[in-house]
Amino acid sequence: MSKIPTARIIVLSGPSGSGKSTLLKRLFAEYPDTFGFSVSHTTRKPRAGEMDGKDYHFVTKEHMMEEVSKGKFIESATFSGNMYGTSIKAVKDVVDAGKVCMLDIDMQGVQLVKKTDLNPRYVFIQPPSLEILEQRLRGRGSEDEGSIQARLSACKAELEYAKQPGSYDFTIVNDDLNRAYEDLKVAIF
Ligand code: ADP
Ligand code: 5GP
Repeated sequence: MSKIPTARIIVLSGPSGSGKSTLLKRLFAEYPDTFGFSVSHTTRKPRAGEMDGKDYHFVTKEHMMEEVSKGKFIESATFSGNMYGTSIKAVKDVVDAGKVCMLDIDMQGVQLVKKTDLNPRYVFIQPPSLEILEQRLRGRGSEDEGSIQARLSACKAELEYAKQPGSYDFTIVNDDLNRAYEDLKVAIF
């Protein structure tokens, strides 16, 4: 019998470089008909290999601010100097397709979603240590030095928030990827 997830919306959060995209890619590959991705908007530049409309909707700051002011976003935040946000349509498209909607958002987004009536399950992806996070961020080869420093600095607040009781329903330490992926499945099914 195939597994049926118990939540319709699942929020994955955690420091940049903690492994959220890696875990989500595995999940979408294993369960393409069950889970769908909430494609966020961002004003940051695409990385090599990222596709507009699939990984993000890459937009200008002017466009994003206008759309936010029109009330089209569930939440939006500034992270490392760029705007990011979840549009109502991004979530609706996935839910209307009959899939469980997976959000990959930062801590500010988590706090804003908590003020809505979406009632998702919240999963925190924790790096094994700051040192390993830095190694992985550098190893990914996607960021310049300023962006790495901004991400490491944001990480400290994200770890503090995750320690607060009730902040997340599950915490997964992403040391060994295979085990972390198994833990993710326990958290979401
Ligand atoms: P995020 O989406 O949270 O920013 P990524 O999924 O891009 O993070 O992961 C950051 C980097 O760390 C990537 O290069 C990825 O291949 C690597 N990575 C992710 N999980 C692990 C792991 N468990 N062990 C080693 N490297 C990992
Ligand atoms: P990256 O630039 O590495 O793709 O993402 C940087 C941070 O922005 C990550 O913590 C990621 O979870 C977060 N992020 C991505 N999309 C959104 C979004 O729609 N809203 C919010 N609040 N954060 C997002």
